Amino acid sequence: MLNVYVDDLSMDELVEIREGAIATLHVDMIVKLQKDRAFYDIWDNFDVVTCDSQFLYFALKLLRRGVQQRVSGSDYFPRFYTRYAGDPSVTVFLCGAAPGIADKAAADINAKVGREIVVGTASPSFELADGTAEDDALVDQINASGATALLVALGAGRQEKWIASHRHRLTSVKLYLPLGGTIDYEADAVRRPPAFITNIGLEWFWRLAREPRRRWRRYVIDEPKVIPYLVRDAFGRYRNPFASGARPGGSTV
Ligand code: UDP
Repeated sequence: MLNVYVDDLSMDELVEIREGAIATLHVDMIVKLQKDRAFYDIWDNFDVVTCDSQFLYFALKLLRRGVQQRVSGSDYFPRFYTRYAGDPSVTVFLCGAAPGIADKAAADINAKVGREIVVGTASPSFELADGTAEDDALVDQINASGATALLVALGAGRQEKWIASHRHRLTSVKLYLPLGGTIDYEADAVRRPPAFITNIGLEWFWRLAREPRRRWRRYVIDEPKVIPYLVRDAFGRYRNPFASGARPGGSTV
């Protein structure tokens, strides 16, 4: 779809993956992937791309490239830690969200799982930048935790770039999970919409109504830009602004 590939896999298949990097594609991300060359250039770091968005799920269906199901990051993560509850070789580090939120999420998850599956947390500052002392300390902290799975929640685009530029320095992590608002959901800091709202493609409206000042730009100005792109794609007139980005062995969808 547009300049990215979406993998057609089920939630059951996704939770069996123990190594690699998983991206969960939603509208904000696909819009950024049309404009942000640095984001587009690191996209190949992600071994699996799921369709996180009900809107993109419908769009793929209309384009006759439908996938079997929407697989959202926030549905996936609880499935992941439940699946590995009894497997002590799997441990998790939570990186992101406001101070205190990752700790609360860790305590809640460990209580649910019945063991210390979350072995470390960090809430980096919103100014976190590559090469700073804070950044180096974060890498050291993740390595010292020995976590095998790393959830990074720094906002779409930023979290994927952080993973791409740091994974070579992370010694124990096998599974990379850039999962936006998931830490907030796990800590019950942000309420998820009822499933029926998501299923009819209105999660964006729920978020906009709850946090209008924070969200209006994204949902009113940025995300609707995907529509003309998709119309062009439907008529075979879409051109990848960055060209030659084909994944080897993949088919252009
Ligand atoms: N976040 C963060 N540092 C940042 C930007 C965002 O920790 O510099 C956290 C934010 O607190 C939230 C999560 O990342 O917990 C997702 O942010 P947001 O909902 O804005 O992004 P989305 O995932 O919807 O793109």
